[in-house]
Amino acid sequence: MNDPWIANRTRSFDSSGIRKVFDLAAQMKDPINLSIGQPDFEVPEKVRAACIEAIESGKNGYALTQGMPVLREKIQAQIDQQYGHSDRKLFVSSGTSGGLVLALLALVNPGDEVIFFDPYFVMYQPLVELVGGVPIPIDTYPDFKIDLQRVANAVTARTKMIIMNSPANPTGVTCSQEEIKGLAQLAAERNIAILSDEIYSHFSYDTPFESPALYNERAIVIDGFSKSHAMTGWRVGYVHGPEALIDEMAKLQQYSFVCAPQPAQWASAVALDIDVTGHIQNYRRKRDLLINGISDLYEVVPPGGAFYAFPRTPWGTGTEFVTQAIENNLLIIPGNIFSRHDTHFRISYAAKDSVIERGVEVLRRLAKKHP
Ligand code: PMP
Repeated sequence: MNDPWIANRTRSFDSSGIRKVFDLAAQMKDPINLSIGQPDFEVPEKVRAACIEAIESGKNGYALTQGMPVLREKIQAQIDQQYGHSDRKLFVSSGTSGGLVLALLALVNPGDEVIFFDPYFVMYQPLVELVGGVPIPIDTYPDFKIDLQRVANAVTARTKMIIMNSPANPTGVTCSQEEIKGLAQLAAERNIAILSDEIYSHFSYDTPFESPALYNERAIVIDGFSKSHAMTGWRVGYVHGPEALIDEMAKLQQYSFVCAPQPAQWASAVALDIDVTGHIQNYRRKRDLLINGISDLYEVVPPGGAFYAFPRTPWGTGTEFVTQAIENNLLIIPGNIFSRHDTHFRISYAAKDSVIERGVEVLRRLAKKHP
């Protein structure tokens, strides 16, 4: 493990715990799999056809670093209309993940503090550490709401960035307008970058989606096609924010990811015109199926978006409970993968109804049965 040949920065964190659960899953026979952060519907047919057409017509070379005009100009027009900011430019990244890496590289100096909210998406802490930043997780248990006073108290002279993610992975919780506006304004007042991971922007079931960019002209927004169009393997995302920053991020992309795959960009331009509301309504129904199935036996904050729920374990730690669940053929993720606490677990309802129903059955049995 401590091979001096391998750089020190690899030692500050372990491989993603989710991968470990997936490895376990590979050994299970027909598991009830409620662990995956990937939609269960297919990439829309027109999008698949556009990708094939792009490949067949020879659009296989490097894409422009900042993204193919066919896609970039279309999204730029949308965001210009949406926000009307004079200084808001966009580039196409290699997935939302690629955008996150570049945003941190372009903004965070060693020693800078980066605030994010616990529970958090698995990449945030390792990425902050990779660029030499100091992770400042703010605890949001038990209701996963953002306490603005607590955030204000956590700000120091070294605070460089606040990362927000609504609707959130792993809790499914959606920030209120007051929280979004409050964070956006706090960031503006204290001259802190606000980075909004909006990968679940389409999946907001109870209230219309809102971005902090509505309240902060310098907000940096990251979004992509992985979840909205089930294109997780195609690696297309985008980032928009102040031009000077976007240009620096595109420059860094030139020396790292190079570009997002060209055929997938042509297909993403088609994806922008596809109405996915049918899928979203279906996911709202799946959420209700899961929550109605367990809420009498589990303490769970009602999720307003994404496709996750994050209940408290009825007994034992998250790890102990999930171990039992896996022994009962149910694959879910222990909360400590996303948190300093090991008291909850994540369920993804991006699955067929029959799988959700089988999962609910096992969860109901487990709640009543302390081993
Ligand atoms: N942010 C969040 C909150 C996510 O849940 C995910 C995917 N699980 C990503 C970013 C990464 O998405 P992409 O496939 O666009 O890299």
